[in-house]
This record gives sequence, structure tokens and C-alpha cells, in this order.
Amino acid sequence: MTLNEFLKEKLKDKFDNIDYLISEAEKNKISLEELFYRNGLLDDDFLKLKSEFFNLPIKKFDYSEQIPQEILNLISKDFAKQRKIIVFDKKDSEIYIGAVNPETNPLNETIDYLKSIYNQEIKAYIISIRDYFLIFRQYNKFSDVLKETLFNLRKTKPLVTEEEIVKLEEEVLTDEEAPVVKLVQSLIEEAVYLQASDIHIEPLVRKLRIRFRILGDLRTIAYLPKDFHRQIINRIKVLSKLKLDETRIPQEGRIRTFIHGREIDLRIGILPTIQGEKIAIRILDPLVGLKKVSDLGLLVYSYEKLGKAIKYPYGLILITGPTGSGKTTTLYAILQELNNENINIVSLEDPVEYLLESINQSQVRSEINYTFASGLRTILRQDPNVILVGEVRDLETAELCIHASLTGHLVLSTLHTNTALGAINRLLDLGIERFLLPETIRMIMSQRLAKRLCDSCKKEETPSDDLKNIISDNIKYIDKEIIESLKIDINNPKIYHPSGCEKCNFRGYIGRVGIFEIILITDELKKAIYDKKTNEEMEKILIEEKFINLKQDGIIKSLMGLVTIEEVLKIT
Ligand SMILES: [Zn+2]
Repeated sequence: MTLNEFLKEKLKDKFDNIDYLISEAEKNKISLEELFYRNGLLDDDFLKLKSEFFNLPIKKFDYSEQIPQEILNLISKDFAKQRKIIVFDKKDSEIYIGAVNPETNPLNETIDYLKSIYNQEIKAYIISIRDYFLIFRQYNKFSDVLKETLFNLRKTKPLVTEEEIVKLEEEVLTDEEAPVVKLVQSLIEEAVYLQASDIHIEPLVRKLRIRFRILGDLRTIAYLPKDFHRQIINRIKVLSKLKLDETRIPQEGRIRTFIHGREIDLRIGILPTIQGEKIAIRILDPLVGLKKVSDLGLLVYSYEKLGKAIKYPYGLILITGPTGSGKTTTLYAILQELNNENINIVSLEDPVEYLLESINQSQVRSEINYTFASGLRTILRQDPNVILVGEVRDLETAELCIHASLTGHLVLSTLHTNTALGAINRLLDLGIERFLLPETIRMIMSQRLAKRLCDSCKKEETPSDDLKNIISDNIKYIDKEIIESLKIDINNPKIYHPSGCEKCNFRGYIGRVGIFEIILITDELKKAIYDKKTNEEMEKILIEEKFINLKQDGIIKSLMGLVTIEEVLKIT
């Protein structure tokens, strides 16, 4: 039996289009696993099936886990690429390797070969193609690539004047091997590898500064000589089909590409400044932005509330929080949770950030008068069950959302308010009639993002007396049962700080985690909204209903060692 035959048998219940998927993979000359990976379908079950088929133990890697260079280099980059294997550890007289597909690349040959070189036992594991791409990337050290390309650039293209550059860039663009092409490519690859959300290429007076936004913070990655500015800009303009000769007005474009084996969208924004054109690139990486509800960082008490809210066939679900607080990621996670063959999901977004399988996504275009409001009217004629509206900004959109949720649709949207409770006031301020709210709103969730501490190197500490007071002031209102279920010792609280190790690239943090507060609209709250209760009165009801606010959720997460308490206090 071949691997594909085995997978077909095992996966046919989960994917009734498995024959089609296999033929697509064959057509694209990639493995079924790579096809799954590219389409966001790959999960741990797939890895378990491979492990079962090849009878090999599983090895998984954390994102940004670093393999020491001397271990990685036990096999060459070419060998790793050709055989789709990596070496990830070495102990005593054993070498540990991970293989993606021993069917196409027979393992015993590889093992014999490695044994003959190193005269050590070889322990083989099965790894996912995602992890293979992650680790393989570590063969290219960005600083080396940068050094090499700059060197080549200097060697092949001596300093030129502004007029000459125009000719020069044509040469560069036709020659795919040109250093600047490589430079831009490795810059983008590095940003994706570091899970940066944005790349900034900024002309300063004498230099060109490259900065990445990583986990919310801007970091300078490199300074380049300013004479490369125009070539880099032009390369990016060509890739995103923007006008080369237009340098005085802002331009926006888009690049869709494959990086480290996955489809990634790049949004390009070019802004003329006094020093020349500045480029901002937003990276939309499905690995970072597309998460399952279970990966968002919801603790049991929040998870249960969310689960309840999305079971309703109709009503309004609102997510609030400032820009960059992860609202879209949460919305997409909920949509994926709701997605099945029996319901019709239609979205209206500005812009569409990630493409989701079998969801009808539509993009607002204000320049042709396709707005949230006009789009919603159109969507309602498409027989939807679930509607996602990117953002409620005005009365018309708000009214249409309310109307849609009253007429049997589940409507998901976001609002720009800081707290969950604030959403009610915001809708009233926009002009929505008070009596409509209790009947439509099911759930309001507010959220922030905090950096997630690296589990391998975080340091446990005893908080100062001041912090202890803040902790107990916030914890004392939380239901005892909830605290007990979380297994944190509130009488002797511990907090955690980052230190840095190989696994987290010496940053102390790996990824980010959401901080949430969730209000489920209960009968008590419905009555309170009807009765025009003040915010203070509403808060009292919430406490009785075991509501946990943003700060409390954050403090709980800091006591659990997920985030630092300092960041929680700053963002909540
Ligand atoms: Zn670490």
C-alpha cells in the first residue's frame, strides 16, 4: 500500500473530496501533505497517520525553535533539501534525524550513509512538512545573506548618479540573478521567518533603514547605503505592479507569493517623504493570523462563554479592542469553527486579509460605492446563515447588522471601543434604538494581545508588595471555583519574566496570546439595558455573573506564567 492509498482510506470520512485533493497534489507535483499545508488543512492527525504508516515516532518543533548550527550542519543544505530530512539533535553516540516522507526518500539509504560518515547510531523520527520548512530555513542566516548580497551589489554595480539608475534598474529587473532581487527576497523571507507583521524601508538623510515590527515592537534590522534605495523601491514596485515613474503620490499594491512553503500575502504601501519614497509592507501570514479558537489563548471560563454564544442560529456577536489587538484573528477563528457544508457564510471585509476555504469573502470598495452598508444589502440577498461585517463604523451599517440579526442571521462584527461594556454605549451613540439591543446582542468580547513568555527560559519571581496588592485587589472579586480550577496559588503568587534561550532566539518570548473579557447577554443584563442602568450598575450585575474583566484575565495569565504582569498592566 502506498502512503496516498493509506491516507485516502483514513481521511475519506473527514474529507469527502479526498480524491480531488490527491489529484490536485499530483497535478501540482507536490505531496498530499504539502497541498494540505498550503491550504491550511494540515493538523496533528495527519502527522499521526504518517507515524502510523511508517512506524516511526513523532517529533514536533516549536515555532522559532533553533537548532544549533553545528548540529544542523551534520548534513549539508543540499542533502537536507533533496532528501527532505533534517538533523535536530546529537547525544552521546546517537544522531537524531527527522524525515518528512520516507516513501519518496528511502530512510535506510540515508541512515546507512550517515552511519558510514559519523559511525554513530541514527535515530529517525517522522516530522511534518511545516516543521521541515521551519528548520530548513535555519540553513540561511540572514546576516550572511545580507553581507554577501551587499558585497555583490557593490562589486557589480558601482556607485551611480540618479540619472544612471534608471537604465541600471532595467538591467537589474531583467536579470533574475541580480543581487537586489536576492536582497529583497531574503528581506521578505527573513521577516516572515521572524513572524514580523510589517517591514519598513525608510530613507533617512544618509542611510536606508530597514525595520521589522515583531510581536508589536519595531526593531531595526539593518542600515543599508542609501544608493540602494531606488533599486529596492523599484524591485518592490515591479513585484507589486505599481508605477515605477510615479514618485510623488502614495501608491498601494499587493504581492501574493510562496514563502517557506506557504502562501503569503504582502500589502505594499508607498509614501513619498522628504527623503524619498518610504515603503511599508504588511505581511499576512496564515501561520500567524489564522488560528483556531482553541489557539487564541482563551481560558476555560472564556472558552465556554464563546462556545455558548456561537451556538445561537441568529443574533449579533461583537468583538472590540484597539487596532492591532487581534480582532480579525478572533473573527476568522470563529468563522472556521462555524464553517460546515450546511451553512452559508458570507463576509464583507475591508480589506480581505486571509482567504478562507468555502467562505464567500467580499471586499468593501468605497471608491465604487461598495461600502459596508451597500454590501450588506447585497449580501442579505445571497441567503446567508452567517455574516461577517469587518467593522461597524456608522449608523447605517449598525442598523443593517441589527436588522440582519433580527431576521435570522448570525452576524459577527467589530467595534472600536476599549471595553466590552463600551460597545453598548457606542451603538446607542451611533443612534441605535435601545429596545433593539437586548434582543439582538448575544455576546460582546473585548481583547488585547500580549507577548507570550518562552516556556523554556522564563524566570519565576516573587512579586513586590506593590504588585502583590494590585494582584489581590483584582483577584478578590473572581469566583473562588474559577481560581481553584486554574491551579494558581493566590496566597503565594509568582510572576514570570523573560530571559532568552536558543529556543526563543534569545528574545524571551514566542508569539502572542490574547487577553479577553466576554459578556454574555443574560436575561438579567437584557433587563438592565432596557431599564437604562448606569455602567456602575451594569458592572455590579457582571460581577454577580462571574464576569472576568481584561485586567483580571491578564493577571491570571501572568500568574500562570503566560505573560508578564508589567505588560498586562500597561495594555489593560
Ligand atoms: Zn527561551
